[in-house]
Amino acid sequence: MARVGFIGLGNMGGGMATNLAKAGHDVRAFDLSEEALARAERNGCLRAASAAEAVAEAEAVVTMLPAGKHVREVYQGSILGTAPTTAILMDCSTIDVDTAREVIATAQSQGYAMVDAPVSGGIAAAESGTLTFMVGGTKEAFGRAEPYLDIMGKAVIHAGGAGAGQAAKICNNMLLGASMVATCETFVLAQKLGLDPQTFFDISSQASGQCWSMTSYCPVPGVGPTTPADRDYEGGFAAALMLKDMLLAMEAARSVNSYTPMGSLAQELYGRFNDLGGAGKDFSAIIKMIDDSWKA
Ligand code: NAD
Repeated sequence: MARVGFIGLGNMGGGMATNLAKAGHDVRAFDLSEEALARAERNGCLRAASAAEAVAEAEAVVTMLPAGKHVREVYQGSILGTAPTTAILMDCSTIDVDTAREVIATAQSQGYAMVDAPVSGGIAAAESGTLTFMVGGTKEAFGRAEPYLDIMGKAVIHAGGAGAGQAAKICNNMLLGASMVATCETFVLAQKLGLDPQTFFDISSQASGQCWSMTSYCPVPGVGPTTPADRDYEGGFAAALMLKDMLLAMEAARSVNSYTPMGSLAQELYGRFNDLGGAGKDFSAIIKMIDDSWKA
């Protein structure tokens, strides 16, 4: 079993670090939050006094941080030059493609192997070890990261070179965000045209309009499988995080001059929904902004 340095024990990282510890790894964990650190300790991790201490003798390092600036700061300030160069470095945060590539290039120039490995799946998947990892990096780095990611996920997919994991993640979430808005406005229109929502679900989920946002994550309470809509849009994937991912997708689109009219409009709508106070609700609650009559 290996010594793993784990930095960022929040909603996602807490469950992920616990699963590595449960699998028998010696997890030395650090977070700026005392509460997060205490929870990780209760769940079998060893408390480190700093990020540098967590990685000092590590064979593997995992980071699960809020955004690109935190990742750059933690790698440049505490990991690179402190962790042994034999350690495999895995950043599982969702960040912009450019920062991911920059941090990996810096790590490689100092002799480390590193991957970007963002995840699909929320807090429940982090706790149950059923995340999907999209991994960017060399084949060799992927091969070294895979056994650790396997413990925390149900699927680990090599997306390509450095930054490809982040590219896959934001492209997927741009599609998810836009398809959710389309699903919401469609159900509102169907209802206004006199259709029963369950009947429309039964038809469209077996017709050419079907998509994951409808069949697996229906934004209408009481329709289709149980989803956050059935819990007043609590839990699930927060609208604030969807907005973050949509903004990352727009930034990436601009950087390669790619035309994304649907993504751009969806980003604007999630921005408006966040401004109206929806940030903490599941992203499917945007249906409430489209038609207030859907209150659960
Ligand atoms: P979170 O805010 O709950 O956790 C982030 C943790 O990082 C916090 O505990 C914070 O104290 C810690 N942190 C910040 N700066 C630090 C530093 N310099 N040193 C040590 N610790 C530091 O966020 P989260 O929901 O766990 O999300 C983490 C990442 O996963 C984000 O990039 C997010 O976009 C992504 N993500 C989240 C979800 C989700 O459903 N929550 C799903 C997929 C991906």
